[in-house]
Amino acid sequence: MATENGVDAAALFADGGLTYDDFIILPGYVEHGIAEIELETALTRRISLKMPLVSSPMDTVTESAMAISLALLGGIGIIHYNNSVEEQAALVRKTKRFENGFITDPVALSPDHLIRDVDAIKERHGFSGIPITADGEAGGKLVGIVTARDIDFETDRDRPLREVMTTDVVTAHQGISLQEGNRILKESKKGKLPIVDDEGNLVSLMSRTDMRKNQDFPLASKDPSKQLLVGASISTHHEDRQRAEALVAAGVDVIVLDSAQGYSTYQIEMLNWIKEQYPDLQIVAGNVVTAEQCEGLIEAGADALRIGMGPGSICITQETVAVGRSQASAVYHCARAARKRGIPIIADGGVKLIGHIAQALAIGASTVMLGSMLAGTDESPGEYFYEGGVRVKRYRGMGSKEAMQARGARRYEAGEERIRVAQGVSGTVVDKGSVINYVPYLLQGVKHALQDLGERTIAELHEAMASGRLRFEKRSLSSREEAGVHGLYSYTPPHRFDRPEGYPRGKDKG
Ligand code: GDP
Ligand code: GDP
Ligand code: GDP
Ligand code: 5GP
Repeated sequence: MATENGVDAAALFADGGLTYDDFIILPGYVEHGIAEIELETALTRRISLKMPLVSSPMDTVTESAMAISLALLGGIGIIHYNNSVEEQAALVRKTKRFENGFITDPVALSPDHLIRDVDAIKERHGFSGIPITADGEAGGKLVGIVTARDIDFETDRDRPLREVMTTDVVTAHQGISLQEGNRILKESKKGKLPIVDDEGNLVSLMSRTDMRKNQDFPLASKDPSKQLLVGASISTHHEDRQRAEALVAAGVDVIVLDSAQGYSTYQIEMLNWIKEQYPDLQIVAGNVVTAEQCEGLIEAGADALRIGMGPGSICITQETVAVGRSQASAVYHCARAARKRGIPIIADGGVKLIGHIAQALAIGASTVMLGSMLAGTDESPGEYFYEGGVRVKRYRGMGSKEAMQARGARRYEAGEERIRVAQGVSGTVVDKGSVINYVPYLLQGVKHALQDLGERTIAELHEAMASGRLRFEKRSLSSREEAGVHGLYSYTPPHRFDRPEGYPRGKDKG
């Protein structure tokens, strides 16, 4: 089958299971500068992102710090559910509150509250610009404002806010556009702009910081009210319907149904129930690896599919149950099945290199879900520690003994079973610094791949794959050795990426 110009994807995947390392993509004709290449892509039927990376719902990968940073960069984080319903909902809420256009439910206080109460809000939510209303409610009559500057040098934290608040507040009228609001904020040089109605009641608040965030992160993934997009995972167990309700109330944009084997009655029932309750909510179903499974879940209403069974770096599923599929084959065949129905797929697991991201996209994935590559960053939960002189963070499979003990049991264990079979391991990964610097580096690499292939967008890449223009070749074991670093006595491994000041890090409680 091999020709002098390689083979098309259909021929490459015609027989046998392939992983990313089993093939290479042949170069095309370079027509575009790197600046012309765009990575916009579909996450689900209705949500599109400016870049194709999604963080995995694992308790050592995604809480709000990861979700915020990834969304600012144009991707999205999926908050894990190895926690209580309240904890998970709080992590979603925190991500949604991070950036805003109009803050429609601003935290307000009354003139009788104390400086101490502002301190408590700062501690809990991270901000201290508080509009003061007569009754202390968000919809009450605006009587003043208190910001950091009014209280930062005050030693007596028991003073009432009426004594420190500013009362001649610059406000704007309900109905102004975001642009006008931003202009008033620029001109007034204040940090906050309360928006009021005809009676002077507070209806919303704008923050100068949000203008800066918008400027610093022009690709950020946002909903129409300019809040960051965020996803959250749930299990297919009946009791997680409550979890779904709480997540929706917290403002979640997409729910990921998390099953190792997603083609099941449980999943289809959960999918039907959510679609009935929340017809507009986007749902990612999975995990699946065959065309038949994909068709079943699409038929049941999935808005995107998560592909992968067993390729994860911490995963021992294929060794334990001998069920699954080599990841590149799974991605290719599922992408083909889903493309016919207009449903995007997420390639989940087994991605270790920038090249793997490019390969997943080239064989039909619209987005790529990362676990180990995003673990060990400043934004992943957990503390750094030293192992043999190397700075590391813990990274564990959600089906590892440790994660199951921390309440993850549900996914990999049938309810009534008493013996738990681990399908994952627990280990460590090396410190990579901040996602804010590391992810743009990964994306620049992906852009170079598209450039070398002669494609300008992910949509064009998919078109090229489907039409047979994109050419591939299998690789031998020795060709893979040739591709890696070889023949050196020593070399400097990739660097770390330092975190800029002012952005969230690490484990946070919501
Ligand atoms: P675009 O910025 O022109 O692509 O269009 P958008 O709909 O994203 O933004 C419309 C207006 O809202 C512009 O004036 C933006 O600067 C402003 N804007 C966008 N995002 C935010 C945000 O998160 N906060 C604030 N305050 N303004 C924003
Ligand atoms: P502050 O000046 O201490 O209030 O804090 P920042 O300058 O850091 O801005 C507050 C950030 O928190 C902005 O990005 C707001 O969009 C966000 N935020 C979310 N909800 C609220 C809220 O209820 N009140 C305030 N003040 N900020 C909020
Ligand atoms: P900060 O830098 O986070 O403290 O926040 P601001 O720039 O919003 O506030 C600086 C000072 O201006 C504080 O004393 C506020 O109470 C006051 N301030 C905030 N908004 C207004 C306003 O609309 N009018 C007036 N005159 N003062 C304001
Ligand atoms: P990685 O990016 O580290 O290669 O893989 C991450 C993916 O592995 C996750 O998104 C998830 O689908 C899968 N995964 C996470 N924990 C486990 C586990 O304990 N067992 C198995 N089989 N897969 C896991």
